[in-house]
Amino acid sequence: MSLRILYYSTNRNLENVKGIVPFKGYVSFKEALLQGQAPDEGLFMPDRIPALSQRHLMALKGKPYMASAMLIAKAFLADEIPERVLKNIAEDSYNYPVPLENVTGRKYVMRLDQGPTASFKDFAARMMARLMSHLRDPGKRLNVLVATSGDTGSAVGEAFKGVEGIDVNILYPAGEVSGIQKKQLDTIGDNVHAISVDGKFDDCQNLVKQAFSDPALVDFNLTSANSINFGRILPQIVYYVYAYAQLAEEGEEIVFSVPSGNFGNALGCEYARRIGLPVKKLVMPTNENDEFPRFLATGVYEKVSPSKACLSNAMNVGHPSNLARFFDLYGGTVDRGGTVHKYPDIHEMRRYIFSVSISDEETKKTIKRAYDTYGILLEPHGAVGWRGLQSYCEQFGDFPLCVSLETAHPAKFPDEIKALLNITPDLPQSMKDIDQRRGAPFELSGSYKEFRIYLRNHLKVRSQ
Ligand SMILES: *Cc1c(COP(=O)(O)O)cnc(C)c1O
Repeated sequence: MSLRILYYSTNRNLENVKGIVPFKGYVSFKEALLQGQAPDEGLFMPDRIPALSQRHLMALKGKPYMASAMLIAKAFLADEIPERVLKNIAEDSYNYPVPLENVTGRKYVMRLDQGPTASFKDFAARMMARLMSHLRDPGKRLNVLVATSGDTGSAVGEAFKGVEGIDVNILYPAGEVSGIQKKQLDTIGDNVHAISVDGKFDDCQNLVKQAFSDPALVDFNLTSANSINFGRILPQIVYYVYAYAQLAEEGEEIVFSVPSGNFGNALGCEYARRIGLPVKKLVMPTNENDEFPRFLATGVYEKVSPSKACLSNAMNVGHPSNLARFFDLYGGTVDRGGTVHKYPDIHEMRRYIFSVSISDEETKKTIKRAYDTYGILLEPHGAVGWRGLQSYCEQFGDFPLCVSLETAHPAKFPDEIKALLNITPDLPQSMKDIDQRRGAPFELSGSYKEFRIYLRNHLKVRSQ
């Protein structure tokens, strides 16, 4: 039996900062999962990162996705959850394919869009919902609050639909989600409630963050399912391991390109590297919300505020919440408002991470070029990823083994695809009945006072 992994807060060193009482403790995975964020509003971080050898990794070659999921789940959770429970959770979570589509040479697009809501967020949400369901306190109702800029909410909602003793409230920015995304969110039903907010994604995220630190709401047993929950990060380590095992020769280096918004997906890759995956470079392209590439270029961090509305709308984030985790891993501290208290080792960061901002114009050109040149169909997020990879190769030389992530299904962006390529992408099975679904959101202005009244009137405390 190995030493149990414990979780600390990214804000633990913030002495003498107004409004923050640093949390110096350590919690179990169960507590990190159910609390969502640390009491000082920092993000939970594992205090130890397990190590996997090439032998472990190569043993996954040719095996189904489940095997990679089990390896990572066991490495982090074996001391808190029995192996047979983890096996059930992994099997139940991953009952859909994970295509690695060859583009050219040994460059691939990994399609993470085959789950129930056709975005990569299904991977994390499904596993997290099942982990919460297993670890929750059976006497008390668990109220999950999620802010979404599009795909998180429906993935989380679908993942929790019908789960005993858990209710989910999803906040989304009224003007920033696509028609299909709105339909997906509004029609989940059952124990899952949609709230349309007159504001931006950052406003939704702030409402949720305020609710978590509101003493008047403690009885409601609130928890988050945003990318700030470590339970969301853990499953996102798995597909990097899976792709590597399927494509790499033993010991070979690989480049991953991850279209990035709140940086939870890219963080999965960062942890995969630290676990032992030979990741030559983690490419983290953003859309026109370019705070991170500017930081890597200049060494000075300034959030983009307000965030810009771009085509790749799930990445319209002006201050990525998981930046706090990246800073922490490289020796720095940044708080949730975007103030840097200690800069990380930027040379070390540049060694492993490359970032570039891709404009909407360039995103559209990439969708067209990738289709015309290689017959590869990308949607705006995947196009940002692919363009970012090209940009890396242009700057640092071509690299043999590369995987770019396609994070949503092209059918979720029918208007853009039609305008650019004059084709209508086939709907995945999970979205075929979307027009017949019914449901309407609760509408809120964006004021915290109003949100709090909604919560007090609608949430339940007890399990039944
Ligand atoms: C959420 C999302 C992203 C961004 O992922 P982060 O983990 O927030 O960086 C990219 N593409 C799609 C389709 C998404 O839904």
